[in-house]
Amino acid sequence: MTWQPNGKHLIAGEWVGGSATFRSEPSSGPAHDFAVGTVDLVNRACEAAEEAFWTYSATPRAARAAFLDAIADEIEKRGPAITEIGTQESGLPAARLEGERGRTTGQLRLFASHIRDGAYLDLRHDAALPDRQPLPRPDLRMVQQPIGPVAVFGASNFPLAFSTAGGDTAAALAAGCPVVVKGHSAHPGTGEIVAEAILAAIESCDMPRGVFSLIQGGRRDVGTALVQHPLIKAVGFTGSLAGGRALFDLCAQRPEPIPFFGELGSVNPMFLLPEAVKARGAQIGQGWAGSLTMGAGQFCTNPGIAVVARGAEGDAFVAAAREALEKVAPQTMLTDGIAEAYRKGKSRFDTRNAVRPLLTNDDDGRQASPNLYETDADTYLQDHALGEEVFGPLGLVVRVSGPDEMEVLAKGFEGQLTATLHMDQGDTATARRLLPILQRKAGRVLVNGFPTGVEVADSIVHGGPYPASTNFGATSVGTLSIRRFLRPVCYQNLPDGLLDALTA
Ligand code: NAP
Repeated sequence: MTWQPNGKHLIAGEWVGGSATFRSEPSSGPAHDFAVGTVDLVNRACEAAEEAFWTYSATPRAARAAFLDAIADEIEKRGPAITEIGTQESGLPAARLEGERGRTTGQLRLFASHIRDGAYLDLRHDAALPDRQPLPRPDLRMVQQPIGPVAVFGASNFPLAFSTAGGDTAAALAAGCPVVVKGHSAHPGTGEIVAEAILAAIESCDMPRGVFSLIQGGRRDVGTALVQHPLIKAVGFTGSLAGGRALFDLCAQRPEPIPFFGELGSVNPMFLLPEAVKARGAQIGQGWAGSLTMGAGQFCTNPGIAVVARGAEGDAFVAAAREALEKVAPQTMLTDGIAEAYRKGKSRFDTRNAVRPLLTNDDDGRQASPNLYETDADTYLQDHALGEEVFGPLGLVVRVSGPDEMEVLAKGFEGQLTATLHMDQGDTATARRLLPILQRKAGRVLVNGFPTGVEVADSIVHGGPYPASTNFGATSVGTLSIRRFLRPVCYQNLPDGLLDALTA
């Protein structure tokens, strides 16, 4: 039988309804009613999270790891039902949802093994030097400790991997922090079924009920109350620059400001160096078209900008990209609002004289087709709006005179999640000039690839200088992301009898 949502919030182990409801807007299948979140529920969830913190943060690492594994198992048990409601709500194809589910359970299990290993505690010990002159040194030990309840906001475009049990939740739970999730209004049913899986794991692992709550949205005051709640000690956010900036400012304005780890959008520039363009410009153009239109371009790592020199070889790259984009059929966007925002973003390009349309399409409703434009470096650098993310399959080619102008342009970019070099052996000297600039601008620098597709691994960095993220010292993907929810504490002269409590 098809899984049916109960339409309730999950507050510390209890399904809670409400009289006010909002209706989901699936791209296919039935719409469902969901209780609207309230400030009162935010208070209840945060208080339960704080109470759970004292037990959960002291739970042995092995038990927390088993809990993360159990969440992964419970998600897998519900696999077909998650795919069904997820595809209905998001319009994403089943294969994509299945892949994302594997990524989500893989992340949970990766964090389980990461905390079993214990290296993340970053234990440091400076043994006492009682005879040191002129002053003795005390015994000093440093350990990373969990910070307290964490609020998580998932993104519309990753209903599983960056959502209810996504990377932020997995990292916070692994660190020993309870989590309060603000459900995304684009996929409330998907959020609910994943919350159901987490609750089953809480019960089977006998974890404190307050370790996880899901408050459905429906009203903006839920999110604002959550980030302002005095018991919340950090926020993990994945979403738009506008939403992220609004919540980030609220965090900074609190009587006790807290870190806001916002993973926002990016235009992910690609720099095509001359030898690579000469050898395989058309091939790069086709590859770009594939990356730009994957998932209707609704990826934060979508490579929206290609920088290439003027001339026949660059023209071949552009022509191949255009030809490949022309063949892409309209795709369903995640929500009506995102489809509308894509049209608005496109209109910024249509109304500028110094921007040449290479391929334009107009779609209705929730559909979107690729659009391609071309401009020059001066225009790009002078017009800030051209560097703002358009969430969808829109590409801009920036033509430059050569490596010198490429360098000037690279310096003009804002912070990015990724920057890509397409290069051959003969481009090494130019790449050497660009690399110091790109590593200042982006969290991940790629060579001869496309940035869509973020590996979940120990070395991955998914973050970058503002506006790619609000905290460029952090990553939201990979094991290093646990550090966002830890705080170093130094213990001076702690007796042996208390040491074991530090690293359970
Ligand atoms: P969004 O519209 O910013 O929504 C994200 C969440 O924040 C939702 O729960 C939303 O609530 C809430 N929110 C937004 N503005 C708010 C405000 N002013 N006050 C209170 N709450 C607010 O983003 P999205 O459409 O879900 O995601 C698409 C964006 O995410 C794109 O820009 C994409 O590039 C970015 N993204 C980034 C990454 C990354 O890792 N860097 C990954 C994926 C996506 P409602 O549910 O009520 O709208």
